[in-house]
Amino acid sequence: MSNALRNDDFDVAVVGGGLVGAAIAYGLGRVGSRVVVLDEGDMAIRASRANFALVWVQSKGLGMPEYAGWTVASAKKWPTLADELKREVKLDVHLQQPGGFHIALSEEELERRANTLKRFHNQAGVAQYPTEILRRDQVMKYLPEIGPDVVGGSYCPLDGHVNSLKLFRALHAAIAGQGATYLPGHAVSAIDRGGRAFRVRAGSRTVTAGKVVLAAGNANRHLAPMVGLKAPMKPERGQIVVTERVKPFLKYPVVTIRQTDEGTVMLGDSKEEGTDPAGLNLEISSVIASRAVRTFPLLGKLNVVRSWRGIRVMPADGFPIYEQSETHPGAFVVTCHSGVTLAAGHALTLAPMIHAGRLAEEVSAFSARRFDVQEVA
Ligand SMILES: Cc1cc2nc3c(=O)[nH]c(=O)nc-3n(C[C@H](O)[C@H](O)[C@H](O)COP(=O)(O)OP(=O)(O)OC[C@H]3O[C@@H](n4cnc5c(N)ncnc54)[C@H](O)[C@@H]3O)c2cc1C
Repeated sequence: MSNALRNDDFDVAVVGGGLVGAAIAYGLGRVGSRVVVLDEGDMAIRASRANFALVWVQSKGLGMPEYAGWTVASAKKWPTLADELKREVKLDVHLQQPGGFHIALSEEELERRANTLKRFHNQAGVAQYPTEILRRDQVMKYLPEIGPDVVGGSYCPLDGHVNSLKLFRALHAAIAGQGATYLPGHAVSAIDRGGRAFRVRAGSRTVTAGKVVLAAGNANRHLAPMVGLKAPMKPERGQIVVTERVKPFLKYPVVTIRQTDEGTVMLGDSKEEGTDPAGLNLEISSVIASRAVRTFPLLGKLNVVRSWRGIRVMPADGFPIYEQSETHPGAFVVTCHSGVTLAAGHALTLAPMIHAGRLAEEVSAFSARRFDVQEVA
């Protein structure tokens, strides 16, 4: 019997079960699609298990103003997603959006930060939202534990954080609850179109679906051309250090320091070119730790309990790629950095567009066609 003759006909096959694929699958199930998620599996390199868990807005979109609007919209939809997940699968993802800080440890850093924000807000058509440059005494009102080296920082009231591992778990539980089929250990190796359906092959198994969504992180680079799409990626390494638990002292997340709902403090996160997740660069860990201790001296008394290196899913220009194939209508690619921040946008806005078979004007700036322009230029 051919594998394709099994009961494998779905409305949508989502390739990749990380935070992006899981959010899209959840959003599709929510509006009535019958979904299968094919996932390479738990041992795959997953940004979704290695991230810093910020739901972050400030200055995102420098160089692409539409990304700022998309990020703000997702941050504003996040409470809806968190509430829905709590109701449906009884898991609290610990969303907190009290606002967040970039800290400056010198006048020069503060001036650089102010210039970045100025350039950001001066972009034509950019979503405007409040960001403030605060001096040390003003920062101290929010973050009383700062050390003497802190000269100030920037604050944005839209910033926040979650427990991203609980988010990952909650999305998968919600997908299962919707009746979606999750196939771990199914690395997709080929996709083609047979009549009106896509045939998605993973090992000896073939599933058929009316639509296919490529949400396989950096692997989208290789999968996209199978359906006439393109996803140029430039993966990046990032390193994170985690301390032992301590009683709550940090009410507001800082872009590189946040206290988790469980009491640990996460410090990070660096950026290095490369795709090798193995090993840790101790020099980087030491820079991360030393800046963190200068920011909050009390961290110097805590033991480090964990440290890891992860690979960021990163489109070549740093901005999301959302596109439907012209040659293979019904095939979509969805890939981005900041899959935690954008989870609500993916589930509640982008997935319904995919369900309807058309990406709306709102996301047209994220087409991969922008890379054609860059190549010609
Ligand atoms: C150090 C670090 C810090 C970060 N901090 C933040 C942050 O604070 N806030 C934020 O919003 N984002 C952050 N991110 C980014 C965020 O984690 C990612 O954007 C998000 O996890 C990407 O999810 P993904 O599903 O695209 O990719 P991944 O999690 O990498 O998942 C890809 C999935 O595709 C599957 N796959 C691959 N190839 C195939 C195939 N051929 N067939 C089937 N399945 C396949 C894999 O098994 C995997 O499950 C951070 C990332 C890192 C590394």
